[in-house]
Amino acid sequence: MKPRILVIEDEPSVAENILYALETDGFKAAWHATAGAGRTALRNDPFDLIVLDVGLPDGSGFELCKEIRKTSTVPVVFLTARAEEVDRVVGLEIGADDYVVKPFSPRELVARVKAILRRTDKAFVPEAAEPTDPRLPFRVDAERFAIAFHGEPLKLTRYEFKILETFIRRPGRIFTREALMNQVWEEPDASMERTVDAHIKSLRAKLRAVRPEEDPIVTHRGLGYCLKETW
Ligand code: CA
Repeated sequence: MKPRILVIEDEPSVAENILYALETDGFKAAWHATAGAGRTALRNDPFDLIVLDVGLPDGSGFELCKEIRKTSTVPVVFLTARAEEVDRVVGLEIGADDYVVKPFSPRELVARVKAILRRTDKAFVPEAAEPTDPRLPFRVDAERFAIAFHGEPLKLTRYEFKILETFIRRPGRIFTREALMNQVWEEPDASMERTVDAHIKSLRAKLRAVRPEEDPIVTHRGLGYCLKETW
C-alpha cells in the first residue's frame, strides 16, 4: 500500500511541485489549500504524514498542528517561509517532526518525508505479535497494519488498527479508556478519553458493515470495552 501524504499548502504552484515529487516517488498525495479543508480531510481519511504550510489563508499551520496533536501522532512536516530560528523552534515544539524553509527543493522534502516514515514505522511495529486465536473471526497482519474480519479486509486508520489489535490479543479482557490510550497512543493525555469512544464507534461501524448481526466489541458501563470471547 502506498503511504498517504496530506499536503496543506495555499500556493498552487508550490503544492503542484510537491505532489509531483511525492507521486514520482511512490506516495499517494492529497492536496488542500486551507486549514479548514485539511481538517475535514483528516477527519475523513487516514494519512501517514502531513506536509503543512505555516501561513494558510484561514489560520496558522502551527495552530492546526496543535489541534491535530490532541488526537493524533501522525508525523507533520512544516513548510515555512520565515527562516528565523525562532519559528523553526516553535514549529518543532508544538509537535512537528521536521520542517523545510521555502524556497526548498521538492526532492529535499521527499527525502525528509521518507526519513520520518522510516523512523516512525520502526517505532510503530507492534512487539510480540502473538498468533491470533484461531477461534476468533479476525486475522491480524501486523506488518501491514491490516486486519480481516470473517475474511473481509477492514479499512482501518492507524488508531483503529491498534485498538482492535489490542482487543484481539486479549479477548474477554476489559480495557478501560485509559488502558486503551496507554496501549495505543504514544503520548496519551486525559483529554483524549472521548477520542477513544469516537474510535470505538467508527470501528464498530466498520465491523457492522461486514456482519451487521455481530457486535464484537462489548461496552462495560463505567468500566470500558472488551472483545467478545465466544462466537
Ligand atoms: Ca502560504
